[in-house]
Amino acid sequence: MKKALITGIRGQDGAYLAKLLLQKGYKVYGADRRSGDSGNWRLKELGIEQEVEIVYMDLLELTNIRHVISKVMPDEVYNLAAQSFVGVSFEQPILTADIDAIGVLRVLEALRDIKPDAKFYQASTSEMFGKVREMPQSETTPFYPRSPYAVSKVYAHYISVNYREAYSMFTACGILFNHESELRGLEFVTRKTTYAVARIKYGLQDKLILGNLDSKRDWGYAPEYVYGMYLMLQQNKPDDYVLATGHTHTIREFVEKAFEAAGFNIEWLGEGINSKGIDKKTGKVLVEVSKDFYRPSEVDVLIGNPKKAKEKLNWQAKTTLEELVQIMMEADLKRIKSSQLCS
Ligand code: NDP
Repeated sequence: MKKALITGIRGQDGAYLAKLLLQKGYKVYGADRRSGDSGNWRLKELGIEQEVEIVYMDLLELTNIRHVISKVMPDEVYNLAAQSFVGVSFEQPILTADIDAIGVLRVLEALRDIKPDAKFYQASTSEMFGKVREMPQSETTPFYPRSPYAVSKVYAHYISVNYREAYSMFTACGILFNHESELRGLEFVTRKTTYAVARIKYGLQDKLILGNLDSKRDWGYAPEYVYGMYLMLQQNKPDDYVLATGHTHTIREFVEKAFEAAGFNIEWLGEGINSKGIDKKTGKVLVEVSKDFYRPSEVDVLIGNPKKAKEKLNWQAKTTLEELVQIMMEADLKRIKSSQLCS
């Protein structure tokens, strides 16, 4: 039985990947930094809480990482743990770098010493492209990171490539464009939107307040993306791959579709910071923009070129934006409705 160690097990991708690997017959160890019980909701929702063996491991602590790797002796390590929120990285840049950049080096060093033949997946990100100089972005597009998060991820990416070249370790980096789901954290704009729209629908909230509505992102469905991670570690040779849909949409479009899926029709007034989304039927303001949610340096547009993943991994994103919004909206409407029935 193959053994996989997933860091960031409490996160969106950790939960979906654990489910996939369990289905494939792996023994799955989920590394958790011991941050309380509330984070288990994703494993619970997927019904795999009992099947994943939790090990306590913090990317800030080398001795702890070494102990866990010695205990598990994994065949595959999926490094998904990160301070993953771009906005927070401006507030906590040093912590972000310690986890997202040096944390990866700690795991690689421990593996190099204890289990150098383990296959290692690094969660790289489209945010590394930042101020884009090529459309769409592929594995060969130069990076221009625009946040402490993205800068840290560039370090993590290159140190993983370096350990591949210097020590012949199997390190694969997935440069993943945004992928969302009903298990996405509430701090991310997509889930913040679907959750707020569901609360507005049930009269628990008046409006949704967001930052730049004109940023464009390439959004896919998370379960498909974790399958791509798995495929990268099943190859004979390690490599880097972009996973993306190849389509880009504004946040404004996502918001509009979310309201539509909940039965509202939005009309937009004003532009940029003065944008407002009005309910066509009642004239009530449902969406407002606040400067507070703008980043000190913004990433305007991301669109990925998944050609290499299609050719080499036979991987392709399938879920459209409309379908993604529908899935997320249905889940949040159901959650809010059942929480109301309970209260
Ligand atoms: P999440 O934020 O949902 O999960 C990240 C996990 O990392 C959390 O469970 C968190 O634990 C854990 N973590 C944070 N700090 C530490 C630490 N010091 N030691 C150990 N664990 C820690 O992210 P996703 O699941 O969405 O993403 C997975 C990875 O993929 C991340 O690295 C992210 O940056 C990257 N990525 C994600 C994209 C996306 O669109 N989702 C796109 C491209 C890359 P806790 O629950 O305790 O806070």
